[in-house]
Amino acid sequence: MTTTFTPSDHPLLNDDEAKTLRAVTEFARDDVAPGAAARDAAATGELDWDTVRRGHSLGLLRMAVPAEIGGLGLSNLAVALVLEELAAADPGMALVFGAAGLFQTPILISGDPRLQATYLSPFLGDEPVLACNAVAEQDNGTDLVLPQQAPYARDMTSARLDGDRYLLNGKKRYITNAPVATYATVLANIEGHAGSTGLTCFVTELNQDGVTRGETHDKVGYRTAPAGELIFQDAIVPAENVVGDPLGGWDLNVAQGNLCRVTCAAVSTGIARHALERALTWATERVQGGRRLVEYQMSARKLADMSARVASARALYLDAVIKADNVLPTPAYEPAVAKLVADRAAIDNADAAMSLIGAQAFQRGDGMDRVLRDAYGPRIYEGSPEALALVITDELIAAGGSR
Ligand SMILES: Cc1cc2nc3c(=O)[nH]c(=O)nc-3n(C[C@H](O)[C@H](O)[C@H](O)COP(=O)(O)OP(=O)(O)OC[C@H]3O[C@@H](n4cnc5c(N)ncnc54)[C@H](O)[C@@H]3O)c2cc1C
Repeated sequence: MTTTFTPSDHPLLNDDEAKTLRAVTEFARDDVAPGAAARDAAATGELDWDTVRRGHSLGLLRMAVPAEIGGLGLSNLAVALVLEELAAADPGMALVFGAAGLFQTPILISGDPRLQATYLSPFLGDEPVLACNAVAEQDNGTDLVLPQQAPYARDMTSARLDGDRYLLNGKKRYITNAPVATYATVLANIEGHAGSTGLTCFVTELNQDGVTRGETHDKVGYRTAPAGELIFQDAIVPAENVVGDPLGGWDLNVAQGNLCRVTCAAVSTGIARHALERALTWATERVQGGRRLVEYQMSARKLADMSARVASARALYLDAVIKADNVLPTPAYEPAVAKLVADRAAIDNADAAMSLIGAQAFQRGDGMDRVLRDAYGPRIYEGSPEALALVITDELIAAGGSR
């Protein structure tokens, strides 16, 4: 079955971006998709470095790094389309590359030439280097997503100024790539500020004495992407590794969150699309009652609804990402709406595909259980539906009631 969409056709892509997307489409189909089941079944925390290495050779660890310093310099539009392609093959692989991008995003937003020269260059070499963005903690999830909940954060990872360096103490949890990352952007609260009102972003080297990798999480989905804890005990961060201004962490967090919601929506769209492709293939081949399932109107309705969900999720994330590429600061409303719709599309399409495919989909090894498990992942991070609802209604009220 051919895919229902060719991202490299998008008219706003330049020639280089279209070429990259064609290469990623082939990589996703020929290299990523065939190994998805094996990665899902592999031991917890195991990373398929061979596939990561092949993706790195296409530039997937330096997608948003400016061309002047050796990156691909892709627009946010192109990055989102790349992530949709990868997610349609294996959302966990999209997450591995996406989490490294999350590390880079605050550094790119800051425009700090020293941080960019020092901490983006490791992604330009021959061997892949991974990184992560460490925000969440055991006691602090949504309280580090919504600024209005910042005062309520408890026992946050702290940063204490000690001469020309900061000492970090605390524990981050649920961090994608943590077990395999060399670098992290860590959000910590400068001592003496209540809750997370002293939030500051620190570029932190993880291979140092003050950092321990804690539990590696045994996730039900996205098993391709290792995730785990990072424990900081007087971990040293030079003061010059503060990204942006000290106490400026919330502004960065919000800017990054708005941008990342678009890429999350692209990942969910990829999952929804994969579920549609599986269901359509099955319905055109499976015969019951003397007809192929696709010939029954009720099956056709299911497939049409699935297709409409993919199309609407994609249209919304494309609208949001085109705005993000052209408007500063990145808008909050469109990415939140796009993510809300795409999260739901992935879950609903996985559910519909399970129903259409029937018992075959309920077998281990068929792959649909993985799609179903993966579909729930993006709903949790970068803003749950409840958090997004608050962002969306705040934006509606600020705009006078409608948009
Ligand atoms: C696959 C995956 C990858 C992840 N990767 C990373 C990563 O790389 N880096 C990182 O920092 N974190 C990561 N996370 C963690 C993620 O950031 C957190 O899960 C997220 O912030 C939510 O926190 P929580 O899960 O503790 O839920 P909680 O904040 O405890 O929320 C639980 C429930 O309560 C609801 N709730 C909370 N506040 C409100 C409110 N005001 N009104 C209504 N309902 C509310 C939430 O919507 C949710 O339904 C990842 C999570 C997953 C699942």
